[in-house]
Amino acid sequence: MVDVELLKRLVSIPSEPDNIDAKRGAAKLIESAAKERGLVAEYVEDSKGIPNVIVRHPHGKGKKVILLVHHDVVPAGDGWDFDPYAPFVDGDKLFGRGAADNKADIVAALDAMAAVSDPVVDPVLVSVGAEETGESEEFMKQIDGDIVIVLDSGPYVSIGASGVLRVDLKVFGKQTHSAYPFLGENAIYNAAKILQFVEHLGHVAERTFVSKYKAPEHYDGVPLRLNATIMSAGIAGNVIPDVAEILVDVRTVPEYGNDFAWRWIAENLLSFAEREGIRISVEKNALMHPWVSEGDHAKRFADIVQRVTGEPQDVYVELGGTDGVHFADRMPVVQFGPMRPENNIHGKNEFVYLKDVEMVQKVVEEVLRRGL
Ligand SMILES: [Zn+2]
Repeated sequence: MVDVELLKRLVSIPSEPDNIDAKRGAAKLIESAAKERGLVAEYVEDSKGIPNVIVRHPHGKGKKVILLVHHDVVPAGDGWDFDPYAPFVDGDKLFGRGAADNKADIVAALDAMAAVSDPVVDPVLVSVGAEETGESEEFMKQIDGDIVIVLDSGPYVSIGASGVLRVDLKVFGKQTHSAYPFLGENAIYNAAKILQFVEHLGHVAERTFVSKYKAPEHYDGVPLRLNATIMSAGIAGNVIPDVAEILVDVRTVPEYGNDFAWRWIAENLLSFAEREGIRISVEKNALMHPWVSEGDHAKRFADIVQRVTGEPQDVYVELGGTDGVHFADRMPVVQFGPMRPENNIHGKNEFVYLKDVEMVQKVVEEVLRRGL
């Protein structure tokens, strides 16, 4: 059974990025809930004052299995049909900001650790306080262990994630007063042509550069993807602008990584622009490389999930980025959790299915009983 009361108490704490008191409150609640369960808990603030909690099992032994979760949430924003911090249960759903991302996993992991009195591994639950803003990265990089289960994902097994590359694209023209358009060249019109080509490149990339790793949704293999996501141009209503700026967000895959994607996109854009007689500049900003954690652990973990769910399990690589990247350099990584697309994480009216929380709990219990 899911401890619905603890989950509601956690969700009722608005641990948004700028609410440090709430983040501390959430961490303190995790610490006391762990102690009530007979676990060993330590509240630790990192050098930036971000509150984290580390929970250990009094009888842990052998392989150190990190269970990674986070107790901060993204801002609720507007448009909810109810108070995001007044959680409630309706049928099998528990509603509220952070219900799925990521407070359900905290409760599931705590209860799993409490349910197994004599684990065959040494489980260490690490709940970080600033995952959503990236500020916990340094703290995560200091955690050592023999394997990490990132409990911040969908109800499927994943062992890697796509990379992120940004292309800053500038499209030029010639500035002039809009009453005398014949004296200038409109960068917005040039940008319109370039944008159409960016869209075309996106379609080609999705068809052509497909990873052997399976995607958890929509695609078969994870493809290279690219999209224009920000565009800005113009300084005044009566000025024909001389520059338009376009940000192209690129999601890369292990076989077609950031260097490949950058070369392919830059070459194609530059030669298209030349053919069209449009002046452009391109600059790259590589944020994160794609990664995969290869090894037997994926199969072992998938078997455990199969034992709990009764369903055969494939192994996937995520379409988005995950925190597994901060561990993959030094230990095997698997990712799992209760988040389904309809849960509206990072959106309004977020909820989690209680049956999914229970599933996560049982999976963690199996890991503690049988090892990983
Ligand atoms: Zn999350």
